[in-house]
Amino acid sequence: MPELPEVETVRRGLVPVMEGQHIARAEVNRPDLRWPFPDRMADRLTGAAINRLRRRSKYILADLDTGETLLIHLGMSGRMLISGAIPGVFHYDHPAPAKHDHVVLHMGQGARITFNDARRFGAMDLMGTHQAEDHWLMRGLGPEPFANDFNEDYLVGRLKGRNTPVKSALLDQGIVAGLGNIYVCEVLYRAGIHPARKAGRIAAARVAGLVPLIRQVLEEAIAAGGSSLRDYRQADGELGYFQHGFAVYGRMGEPCVTPGCGGTVARIVQSGRSSFFCPRCQR
Ligand SMILES: [Zn+2]
Repeated sequence: MPELPEVETVRRGLVPVMEGQHIARAEVNRPDLRWPFPDRMADRLTGAAINRLRRRSKYILADLDTGETLLIHLGMSGRMLISGAIPGVFHYDHPAPAKHDHVVLHMGQGARITFNDARRFGAMDLMGTHQAEDHWLMRGLGPEPFANDFNEDYLVGRLKGRNTPVKSALLDQGIVAGLGNIYVCEVLYRAGIHPARKAGRIAAARVAGLVPLIRQVLEEAIAAGGSSLRDYRQADGELGYFQHGFAVYGRMGEPCVTPGCGGTVARIVQSGRSSFFCPRCQR
């Protein structure tokens, strides 16, 4: 399941094909994905120019010159493929139409963007650009991890007095937007905090220390995505999925990577989701 760094990688891969370009024709091959597509989506996209391609949490937002914004959510298995040619950037032959190619954007300069989603947990929607923050998927979201309003004082304030495990608090999208299971495990490992610790029982200085660690972990993953993007550009035009080395995530039973620790990565289930951690390093 793509998390914030994967979505950001896809966004960056789409920028040269979408930003400043117009959609010559939108092809919508079914009425819905996870939810129904908006009315007349193909008509509302056809002819529109994309002024800006941005991201909010795990959503890619294309601000159109029609006053509307296209929301793209990759869901569990959504894939973005680019084909055609942008001189100096990439050249991929258009692939044969494939099963699960649900939406195809034929761009004005000849490139093509295909949204393929086998499991159909993805979504697309259209909304007025000025109401984007009020869209039901984005309304309750907390600050972005890289934004100024996500800072030490803010996080200490939000976790203060909370009886929930710190893992759940960091996964709460109302506290910080876009953090998912994988990267929360990695952040807590770097912070040396046990995922089951009650959020409100952690010293303020340690909570404050989570803010730079969250940014560091995400930045590293985005950088890894950037290098994968260069590889993908040489390969087949599929954006966004990359192998990334994790310290604890998915490593149950393997040795802790902290030099001299000697511990073994453990797994517990919290709120139905796996938490990976080192019982020696994380208290
Ligand atoms: Zn350890």
